[in-house]
Amino acid sequence: MARKLTKNQQRRIQQQQKQHARRATSAKPQQLPDDSQLGAEQTGVVITHYGTQVDVEPQGQKGTTKRCFLRANIGSVVTGDEVIWRDAQDSNGVIVAAEPRKSALYRPDSRGNLRPVAANIDRIFIVVAAEPEPFANLIDRYLVAAENQGVEAVLVLNKSDLLNGDKGEAVRKLVSPYQQLGYRLIILSTKSGDSSLQELQAMLRDHTSVFVGQSGVGKSSLINALLPQANSAVGELSEARAKGTHTTTTARLYHLELGAGGDVGRLIDSPGIREFGLWHLEPEQIAQGFVEMRAFLGHCQFRDCKHQREPGCALLAAEQRGDISPDRLESYRRILVSLQS
Ligand code: GDP
Ligand code: ZN
Repeated sequence: MARKLTKNQQRRIQQQQKQHARRATSAKPQQLPDDSQLGAEQTGVVITHYGTQVDVEPQGQKGTTKRCFLRANIGSVVTGDEVIWRDAQDSNGVIVAAEPRKSALYRPDSRGNLRPVAANIDRIFIVVAAEPEPFANLIDRYLVAAENQGVEAVLVLNKSDLLNGDKGEAVRKLVSPYQQLGYRLIILSTKSGDSSLQELQAMLRDHTSVFVGQSGVGKSSLINALLPQANSAVGELSEARAKGTHTTTTARLYHLELGAGGDVGRLIDSPGIREFGLWHLEPEQIAQGFVEMRAFLGHCQFRDCKHQREPGCALLAAEQRGDISPDRLESYRRILVSLQS
């Protein structure tokens, strides 16, 4: 799937890459091994990145990584990028080229420039639960972010053991409209130890996925159940958040190996990734991110229609006909308002 970025994003990314290139060329030369020390070109995937260095896993050598420098002219390289690199005997290897990305997740840095944080993700699992209380608006934000990257979003309703009672009823009611919109829903529990994880595992197979969602819904528990070696700290994310450390943790790529079949998929995770949909969205992205609204966009009487109460508004008309739910339209407006503040 192609990466779908707004013009603004593309411009900012281009500016950033230029800045990067300038900084890279003006910085002190790294101890890059010279060509005579380097082995043949080979392919690999970036497992994690640290500024000017990355850990690369050679293709076909799962679990092993080699620290590599980046050639100055190749721009940013992030977790999930497919790269071409050359090994060196007594030194770091060198990344000589990066393959074009199929998708990328971006987040703004402290100066408001969008930076890629992970590449080639093709499935986003939005985790909700009866507790903590879920909010449709939050789900919508994640969906908008996913839709804008051309990445498939799947809803995961965790803590199925809590589905009896009022809170369970409420969360079921909350998620069912998304199924009607065409999103897949997986209901499971990390506590019950039953076979409910299997459907999720099937959805992870042959994909590169991320888990997002509110703190406390069970993302760490899920990741631990899928991937014991990741050792994701259950219940500790909120502590990291309070200390403000979550934004600095770099994303890491994990292989999901379940059963005898070998690799079932890839998971990219970091505390920052888990919140990715909550980062800045461009106004023009918002309406596009509401899948049921797309057909009506551009059909309003006024070109700059805000879909509030303007005459001839195609979205309001669709709402009247029942083609768009009042809740989703309101959620759309709330996201727009949140952008302005
Ligand atoms: P995260 O903040 O999204 O990573 O959530 P955690 O994985 O830290 O889980 C938050 C709390 O929910 C912990 O106390 C978990 O033990 C609990 N939890 C996780 N999965 C389930 C589940 O399926 N059922 C129930 N009842 N609790 C769960
Ligand atoms: Zn309108």
